[in-house]
Amino acid sequence: MSHPCLTCGACCASFRVDFSATETEDEGGSVPQGLVVEVTARTARMRGTDHARPRCAALTGQVGTQAACGIYEWRPSPCREFEPGSDACQRARLRHGLAQLRWP
Ligand code: SF4
Ligand code: SF4
Repeated sequence: MSHPCLTCGACCASFRVDFSATETEDEGGSVPQGLVVEVTARTARMRGTDHARPRCAALTGQVGTQAACGIYEWRPSPCREFEPGSDACQRARLRHGLAQLRWP
């Protein structure tokens, strides 16, 4: 069975994704600058995640069909820490009309 996130991506199109500005390339981190908007001097946000219909600028594919993070190796900490099957995961899936996930 393939990993459920590969046919989902709902969390990348549901929530604001904020993190420390120190995770951005300009400050010695890994997150590509072009995909980030500055919130404050200390806080950065993934571009597109604060839109009325959020969708991270790094998300490729189509939510619920085939999805991938275009910067998987360089993604910020909130994305690394987000857990498939968590309450937030289930909320994101519900928002996009996807069935509850039983995982692992
Ligand atoms: S909402 Fe859950 S299942 Fe979907 S991509 Fe995010 S973590 Fe994976
Ligand atoms: S950086 Fe990648 S994992 Fe994080 S919200 Fe954007 S597409 Fe999803």
